[in-house]
Order: sequence, then C-alpha cells, then structure tokens
Amino acid sequence: MKNLYDDEVAKNFTDDLEKRVYTSNLLGKNDELVLHGGGNTSVKILQNNQEVLYVKGSGWDLVDIKAQGFAPVLLKTLKEMADLEYLSDSKMVQAQKNAMLRSDAPNPSVEAILHAIIPFKFVDHTHADAIVTISNSKTGLKNIKKLYPNFLIIPYVMPGFILAHTIYKMTRDLDWLTCKGIILHNHGIFTFDDDAKKSYTKMIDAVQIAQEFLEINTKIELKQSDLTQKFNLDSLQKIISKEKDYEVVLKVNRCDLAYTYASMPDLKQFVTKGVLTPEHIIKTKRVPLILKDTNIQKAVDKFKKDYLTYFKKFATNEICLNPTPCYAVIKDFGIVSFGKNEQEAMIIDNIVSHTMLAVLRADKLGGYKSINEKDSFEMEYWELEQAKLKR
Ligand SMILES: [Zn+2]
Repeated sequence: MKNLYDDEVAKNFTDDLEKRVYTSNLLGKNDELVLHGGGNTSVKILQNNQEVLYVKGSGWDLVDIKAQGFAPVLLKTLKEMADLEYLSDSKMVQAQKNAMLRSDAPNPSVEAILHAIIPFKFVDHTHADAIVTISNSKTGLKNIKKLYPNFLIIPYVMPGFILAHTIYKMTRDLDWLTCKGIILHNHGIFTFDDDAKKSYTKMIDAVQIAQEFLEINTKIELKQSDLTQKFNLDSLQKIISKEKDYEVVLKVNRCDLAYTYASMPDLKQFVTKGVLTPEHIIKTKRVPLILKDTNIQKAVDKFKKDYLTYFKKFATNEICLNPTPCYAVIKDFGIVSFGKNEQEAMIIDNIVSHTMLAVLRADKLGGYKSINEKDSFEMEYWELEQAKLKR
C-alpha cells in the first residue's frame, strides 16, 4: 500500500486542523481504505484553554473534506459521555451537537466519543479492505491476533455509543503507549499518534501487513467474463422500478471479478454471507437478489418474502424498509445494481465490487463470515437511520 504523504506538500500546512485535512484526504483517496463517506478522522486542539475535538462531520467524504467539514466538540463533554452506563444513539447525537462550539458545523461523527477517549492528538479510522477481509473469515480472529500482536482487538460491537463505551471500559487500565492501534472485528481499524504523518503512516503500514498476508494466502484466479451470455435487463429494470415505485437506473457489471463471483458453484450459499463493514448494509441490504433463470418476478417475490421474514424475526417497533433488493447476482452473467440515479447505482456497484473480492479471498481462509443476521438487522434498523425515515 502506497504511502501518499508528501513532505514537500505537507510543509504548507502549519496548523493542526490543516494537517488533519491533508492526511484525511490522503486516506480518502485510496478506495481500499474507505468508500463513499466511510471512515472518520479527528484532531484534538487546545483552543482558549479548552480541549476541542475536531471530528469528521456527517455528510462529508474523507477524500474531499475541508476544515469546515470537521465538527468542533468539547472534549471534556465527550469523555464524560463515555463514562455513562447507557445512552441511546439518538441522545448521544443530540448531546454531541449540544457540545459543539460552532452551531453551523455538521453533525459530529457517531464515533466522536471513541475518538475522544483515544489519548492521542490525531486519530484515523478506516474500513481497510485487507483487514476486514481477514477479519470476515472463519479464521479471522486467530489471524488478526497473529498479525497484530500489539493492537487492541475488539470483538464485533455495534458502532455508536455501545462501541465507544466498550472500548472505554476495556482501556481504563491500558498503557496506551504499548498499543499500536485498534482493530474492530468485522468493521475496521484505528491508528493514532500525536503527529499527523505518523498516525497516517501507521495506518498504511498496518494495512500493508494484511495485504501481504492476503497476497501469500489467498491467491485467486479470475475467470474471463463470458460476454456472449444474454439476460433480459429491460424486464429486470421494469420489475424493480415497479417494486421500488421509481424508475431505477441499472449499473451492469460484467468484469472478470463479477463474472467469477456470479459463476461460483453453490451460488446462493456463496453470495449471501453479509456485508464487508456494517454501514454498507444501509446501501446494499444484507443479501442480493439471485437470478438463475428468466423468471425475474418470481425471484423478486421470493426475495421480498424472505426479507419480510428477516424483518419480523428481529423487529420490535421499527418501520420496515422497502423489501426490494438493492442489487442482483445473475448466474453466469454478472452483477446488476439498482439506483434511484446513476450515482447511487455506481455507489452500490462499488461497494459490491470490494465485497466480491473480499468474499473470494476469505474463501481461501476457511470461508467468508461477516456479522450475523441479528447484528445486521440492528445496523440496518439503527435508530439513527429510522429517525431519518420518521422525518
Ligand atoms: Zn467505521
């Protein structure tokens, strides 16, 4: 993994927030680290005798975040919140907003408390493909422990307050100087340092370890895509549009990776093992529509039925999302993503592309194993996502 830090460029940035913007953009430039709004970063700055956490605001992408994309939040308040026994995520978001020093700033990231309790100036968090690929495999915990002996390794916990509080409790007696970073199982990685370049470099170096491990242990050969295969995409577009109640845009992916994935034996088993990192579920749902023959409507009806069964199994008082799939795996053909516009279809395709490679690689590590159905449901029906629907 290439370290993009350029001392010549970086010397133009003298204040800490400028440095934070610079290395955040470097992380965002690499789609093997973060995708579409994923990941977050922060810097702690002393301002008028108060410690302030500048943390990525929601709605910003690391690749092009600017100084105003960071929300300034009182560090003391965030640390006090970490000590609470329980706090709902909606109340956490409100309390974080109340502790902001600039009312026109974006909402602080839901990981702000976690950034606050890490006692280093710069904190970097990504969903690095290589790390989640290893983590999302049946041998994940063992391999992660072996590869990252000086990291704090956290079994999967829902992002938001519970994750921050869990790490707060786990690290009360920790000598942070012995801790090189944090790996969140099935989710991603944190690195930190008092120096912007070092924190960024620790991220690149840590991901490099995972990449080298994958190169040695997960050799995959992609099949050449068979472009002579036909599928009735017009019919698919009409059916999905009717189900979603808007005109969907299809993004058709027939590259070698998509073809290899779509032509795996035991396809259903292979492609329904869940998301690469939890937040992807909001954009892709947990599993795709699988199409093997031309009876598209029947397959869509079955998908919806299964989705409603999953919903009913875990729902308490949530509002059910539209049960129509977000993308399809078409046997021996490729992947088709459904967006309300071209951009959304492209985002789904991008996420699925990273997921496909991870699933194929994890298969060489004993099989792909992501978060379970219940944890997936909790993420998909997170109160913060539900609140958006209720609005
Ligand atoms: Zn994350």
